[in-house]
Amino acid sequence: MDDKDSKILFFWNTLKTWFNQNHRDYPWRHTADPYYILLAEFLLQQTHVRKVEEVYYSLLNQFPTIKDLSKASESQLINLISPIGLIYRAQRIKSTANQVYFNYDGKISDNFEDLMSLPGVGHYIANAVLCYAYHQKTVPIDTNVIRLFIRYFNLSSDKPRPRTDKVLASQIRQLYIFDFDYRTANWAILDFAGLVCTMIKPKCLDCPLNIHCAHYKKRSSSS
Ligand code: SF4
Repeated sequence: MDDKDSKILFFWNTLKTWFNQNHRDYPWRHTADPYYILLAEFLLQQTHVRKVEEVYYSLLNQFPTIKDLSKASESQLINLISPIGLIYRAQRIKSTANQVYFNYDGKISDNFEDLMSLPGVGHYIANAVLCYAYHQKTVPIDTNVIRLFIRYFNLSSDKPRPRTDKVLASQIRQLYIFDFDYRTANWAILDFAGLVCTMIKPKCLDCPLNIHCAHYKKRSSSS
């Protein structure tokens, strides 16, 4: 095994162990229902996860199925979503529910292109639905995921918005080499990036990955 392979192996083994002990618990992680997953991902967009849970439950209580949601009025949705802001999501959620109900017989597709055709669904949400609802080997990539991979594996992007960098996304996906499921791997990355490898003041000294982390080595050698 070469250095790169052992670094990848160490990364995933360490993350898996860390996740077993430190994982965050959210209601949308206890389901594989594509409707629940899609709704949660809409609400989580640019919103702190702590605020989302209550709105998620309110929406599901009032609209337990995509059919119910397709019949909701936009003002009902705005009222429910307003505590977490970005109320333009109400219109997107309503349009998506309509499209799924009328164009796809109420079934949320397990096909990437179909999902991408839904209003407000981009790469991140489509990949999240495929992974968390349909157990496909996909990687929803956001700035948190990118940050951890750039730091640990010394990746880089010349794009002003690395989130749109297809080359970088492909490099990250190629590093998904492990012997457990993609759901666990993606949650572990999200939680680790949110709790340890944070944007500001990452907890490098206590980080279980630091021994092989490129960012940590660079910082240590320059100080
Ligand atoms: S050592 Fe620091 S930069 Fe590297 S993965 Fe850990 S928290 Fe992130």
